Amino acid sequence: MSRRPIIAGNWKMNKDINEAAALINELKPLVEGAEAEVVFCPPYVDLVEAVKLTEGTNIGIGAQNMHYETSGAFTGEIAGEMLTAIGVKYAVIGHSERREYYNETDEAVNKKAIKALELGLTPIVCCGETLEERESGKAEAKVVGQIKEGCKNIDDISKVVIAYEPIWAIGTGKTASKEEADEACGWVRKTIEEMYGKDAAEAVRVQYGGSVKPANVAELMAMPNIDGALVGGASLTADFARIVKF
Ligand code: PGA
Repeated sequence: MSRRPIIAGNWKMNKDINEAAALINELKPLVEGAEAEVVFCPPYVDLVEAVKLTEGTNIGIGAQNMHYETSGAFTGEIAGEMLTAIGVKYAVIGHSERREYYNETDEAVNKKAIKALELGLTPIVCCGETLEERESGKAEAKVVGQIKEGCKNIDDISKVVIAYEPIWAIGTGKTASKEEADEACGWVRKTIEEMYGKDAAEAVRVQYGGSVKPANVAELMAMPNIDGALVGGASLTADFARIVKF
């Protein structure tokens, strides 16, 4: 089965609305015609403009988080319904920075993933181990545990994108080797197979994230279990087009 590659830029807390518009306008012609599915995930306040600027292009817009409740007393939060209302198509869920700084649990990740799918948003569910976990031989157990909890009770797992991002490789310039990255994306796929069967595991797309750049994207993408990339730092300039068109 062939899985369409998906390359997503996670802008994190970067780019105000003017900077966002400038980058989108710069990238639009450069990513046109890409074989991969292309996603930009700007900060919330840029989303309306980003959707407007990318209408009729091959770029889909994603949020970096969402709440699983529809409305209510959740100061500072944004509901999935609010995202679909403005034309957002994807939501990053359970990024390691959210897990670390905002106490996001696997339980919340699971609720968000289920809610995103109900709303027709594509969830990009993140998982990955710390350096300490890797060095003590606990990386596989961590990733498998996150997938078992974060991706349970899902109707159509083939609509979920999973991003394996080893925390020690995020923003550090230290990329996992292509073999390490592929092995871990394989743990994800094997876990999905155990949970949902072989066809589901063959269909689900698994991205690698952690210091992906133009110089290393092609070798990562050539690995059998890697179907895409979730890119932070290198998604913030026009160079991102070189990753999209790996
Ligand atoms: P990085 O971030 O590409 O800057 O390492 C990846 C991510 O956190 O999604």
